[in-house]
Order: sequence, then C-alpha cells, then structure tokens
Amino acid sequence: MELNENADIDTSQVEDQRGSGGGGGGGFGGLPIPIGGGGIVGLIITVVLLVAGGYFGVNQLGGGGSADNSNIQQECADKSAAKTKLDCRNVLYINSIQAFWKQAEPQYFGKQYQPAKTVLFANRVSTGCGAADSGTGPFYCPADDRVYIDLTFYQLLAQQLGAPGEFAQPYVLAHEYGHHIQDLVGTEAKMRRAQQSASSEAEQNLLSVKLELQADCYAGVWANHATETKTSSGQPIFKSITDQDIQEGLDTAKQIGDDTLQQRSGQQINPAEFTHGTSADRQKWFKRGFDSGNPVEACDTFAAGAVKPGD
Ligand SMILES: [Zn+2]
Repeated sequence: MELNENADIDTSQVEDQRGSGGGGGGGFGGLPIPIGGGGIVGLIITVVLLVAGGYFGVNQLGGGGSADNSNIQQECADKSAAKTKLDCRNVLYINSIQAFWKQAEPQYFGKQYQPAKTVLFANRVSTGCGAADSGTGPFYCPADDRVYIDLTFYQLLAQQLGAPGEFAQPYVLAHEYGHHIQDLVGTEAKMRRAQQSASSEAEQNLLSVKLELQADCYAGVWANHATETKTSSGQPIFKSITDQDIQEGLDTAKQIGDDTLQQRSGQQINPAEFTHGTSADRQKWFKRGFDSGNPVEACDTFAAGAVKPGD
C-alpha cells in the first residue's frame, strides 16, 4: 500500500482525547507537570488535574469528551507525516473510508452519508455507550455515532494476536465504519430488535455474528474502492493497494476469529459463544466484499442460509 504524499490529512474527522480525562500515561495535553522537581506545588497540580479530569470524564457522557486537536492538527499539517506518524496515517485511512461511504451510501442504499468522528483515546474513555478502556478494543458506539480507538491496540494485534501487517490498521477502522453504515441504514437497530425476541443466547450470538461478518464485508468493499478515494481538495489518498495488503487484511481477520481467540486463550472452542464469527468466515466475508466491491450484492449476511450456527 502506498499513500499519496500530496494528500492533505483532515484531522477534523477525529477527536483527540489522548491528552485528557482518565489520566495515566498519556500526560495532560502536553503540559509538562513538574513532579519531583516541582515538589509539593507540582504534586498539587497533578492531583487537581486528576480530580478535574475524572470529574469531567464522568459528566461528559455522550461523546463530548474533552478533545484537543491542536497537537494532532499541527503534527499532521505536514503531508509527509502520514509516512512517519501512526496517528496521522490513521487519520488518512479514516478520511479514505469516509470519502468512500459518502459516495457509496447514496449509491447503494439511497441514503445520505452522515460523517462519524473517530475518538483517539488513551487508557480510558467516556462514551454515549458507557465507560470503556483500552482492553475493550476498538468499537463503534451507535448512541453517539463515534468510533473509539486506543491506537496502542495495534501493538496488541501485532505482538499478542499475530497480526503485524500494516493493513490491519485500515481493516480495523473500515470494520468499525462498517458498523456506522449499519447504524445509518437501520440494520443495527433491526438486529437489536431481533436479538430481543431471540429465544436463546446462542440465537442472539448468531445475530451478532451476522452483524460482525457484514462489517468485515463492508471493510472489504472499502478496500476494493480505496484507491478511488480522494481528499476534499480532490487528491487521491492511496497510490496503490497491493495483493499483500489484502493478504494482511485476511491474516488479521484470521487472527481475530472467535475460534482462534478461544483457542489462544486456552478455552474449548464453543460455537454457541461466537459473537464475531470464525477465522474462516471473517476471511471469507472480507474477501467477498473486496472481490465484489458492491455492499448490497456481496454483504447480505442476514440472508437465509448465508451464515449458519457455528460459523
Ligand atoms: Zn465489530
């Protein structure tokens, strides 16, 4: 995969909350807090900030958070930052995914695309769907229409889950934006209603698997069209997507399949507990989306027989 070094990086599509709230590790918006050297004064400032951060964190449920984009804006103003900085590169992936759906949602679903921001957080975050921490992994919250990701998740993917390929990153983001599309076109709400009238947990889980595999398929659809996507000023975002990239997407899908994850954690493989689908199915649906490029034709995981129990 090669990104276009002339593409502007539109940081208005993300909310950088890494410098605030929750505290711990991320620092406070880049403020140098003089612990040690600052003695008691530094310590008091730290405590006040911790309390304030915690307080606002709790009271800003609904995705308001406390975003400060000044750092990332500055950092990604230089177009070459996409080559060297993880966060700027990820912003560009988000720009591409949203540029695709802006054009594809009216085309395929007859609906206007509504942009969704991605919240970059460190450690903990308050969302319209409740509080979450990095252990949750990246997710989409339908209540506040945002994607949430702690970018350190990619280290976990690479080091612990065996998916080190660069293309794992846009695949993960495109999967989460796939959930946003499901929210916009009503699939998500329909699936939640079906879950409520389901007679067993296994049946509920199968509905979840169908939703997740469809999001994988939508990620593949985006990958098919990625090189056609452009910035708002009309610059192509990608120069190329290669077979190796698609292979890395498939490798990632394989490593995060329910059966593989259960096996990795030393559990028995139990299909009734699958919520995202097997490795084989996650790969299959990503590939279907990629091969077809048409989300309506390729991605109907809810069609009778498309996904069976145990898949
Ligand atoms: Zn998902």
